[in-house]
Amino acid sequence: MDKLVSLAKRRGFVFQSSEIYGGLGSVWDYGPLGVELKKNIKERWWRSMVHAREDIEGLDAAILMHPKVWEASGHLAGFADPLVDCKQCKNRFRADDPRIKGTPGQPDAQCPVCGTKGSLTAPRQFNLMFKTFMGPVEDQAAVIFLRPETAQGIYVNYLNVLQSSRQKIPFGIAQIGKAFRNEITPGNFTFRTREFEQMEMQFFVKPGTDGEWLERWRAERMQWLVDLGIRPEKLRFHQHTPQELAHYAKEAYDIEYEFPFGWHEFEGVHNRTDFDLARHQQFSGKKLDYLDAGTNERYIPYVIETSAGADRTALVVLCDAYTEEDVEGEKRVVLRFQPSLAPLKAAVFPLVNKDGMPELARRLYDMLRQRFKVFYDDGGSIGRRYRRQDEAGTPFGITVDGQSTQDQTVTVRDRDTLQQVRVASDRLTDYVTDKLAG
Ligand code: ATP
Repeated sequence: MDKLVSLAKRRGFVFQSSEIYGGLGSVWDYGPLGVELKKNIKERWWRSMVHAREDIEGLDAAILMHPKVWEASGHLAGFADPLVDCKQCKNRFRADDPRIKGTPGQPDAQCPVCGTKGSLTAPRQFNLMFKTFMGPVEDQAAVIFLRPETAQGIYVNYLNVLQSSRQKIPFGIAQIGKAFRNEITPGNFTFRTREFEQMEMQFFVKPGTDGEWLERWRAERMQWLVDLGIRPEKLRFHQHTPQELAHYAKEAYDIEYEFPFGWHEFEGVHNRTDFDLARHQQFSGKKLDYLDAGTNERYIPYVIETSAGADRTALVVLCDAYTEEDVEGEKRVVLRFQPSLAPLKAAVFPLVNKDGMPELARRLYDMLRQRFKVFYDDGGSIGRRYRRQDEAGTPFGITVDGQSTQDQTVTVRDRDTLQQVRVASDRLTDYVTDKLAG
């Protein structure tokens, strides 16, 4: 994992937030390549959810919401982790931190950081929502929260979307946006952060059909991940046990990936029943039931939720792509992204900076840039330039050499097979387009 973290920084995928000030705990910034990677994942999700389907609409709800939303959703009362403090070193831990030996609150418990025995307090509930104030007066009436999940923005807009889009049940609403949680034991790079992005889709169905829709969405989501190029043997479902089930859920599955630090969830498929809509109906006093025009039945729809983290999915894609291999006695580090996800689609290199090569290389770079994110590199030996692009996961390396200025052909090096083919320069855009599609 350390190698991936240092590559991510070296190549401009991910930087620690406010690094020049010593960093801000578990908050990360995406650099030039990271922002492209994450954007490609989000666009792919949006296209498959919203554009490719006729039964899902898009939404972009605000991060700030009426404080009653969090009362209705249960986050104000229940969105809490039990925590323990060390009275000696002042560190704070989740009560279920596996490093804690003994029972917190008892003399046998040992602090995992300073090693003191008996210094850990009994567990206390700690709310994970970030609190702030709206308007000029910082009093209780002005308290609002940064949303800890995007889902509630969808529920409170359910009627607006239903009526304006003229959808009928079953249908879904999809949203991509930031969420914030004041996590206590964050860590593992971008896996658990305090500010993150979610890609959530809430699918509203008739009660009684919820089991069948849960199965359909489970299959759809797994297939989507496999289509991203993630190795299927690194993916699995974990069904929530009765102890793990959230208070609103009837049945729930995590999709887990085998990270270098073990199997962990990065997406969930949940049957949230009618809990959220029923609670919003109760707390807002606004009727949220659905009239089925065919059967004249009235009901509050059940919700099947697919909830993915854009950052965790990007981390999965990065971990899965990271490869070290031996090429002719030399170590090669390469990110084998599926070409459609790669931040840079191609890099253009003049073999040497003379004899008309830079001019032709620049012309090709300008041409390709109209269609793809492309990089121009004329620094250092060609071998070093290839290696830099391997580390960036760029699928195609285009080199302008002596022959190119004679016959207008270039070599195209394939990142994975290392094979080079000669391609006529006026066919380059089509060549790259075809390869990206295939
Ligand atoms: P965990 O058990 O890891 O805290 P969760 O079960 O609370 O996660 P959900 O509330 O189901 O997670 O959120 C759905 C998705 O949002 C997660 O699968 C994950 O991809 C993402 N997510 C949740 N919390 C974080 C976080 N602190 N940092 C990054 N991504 C997160």
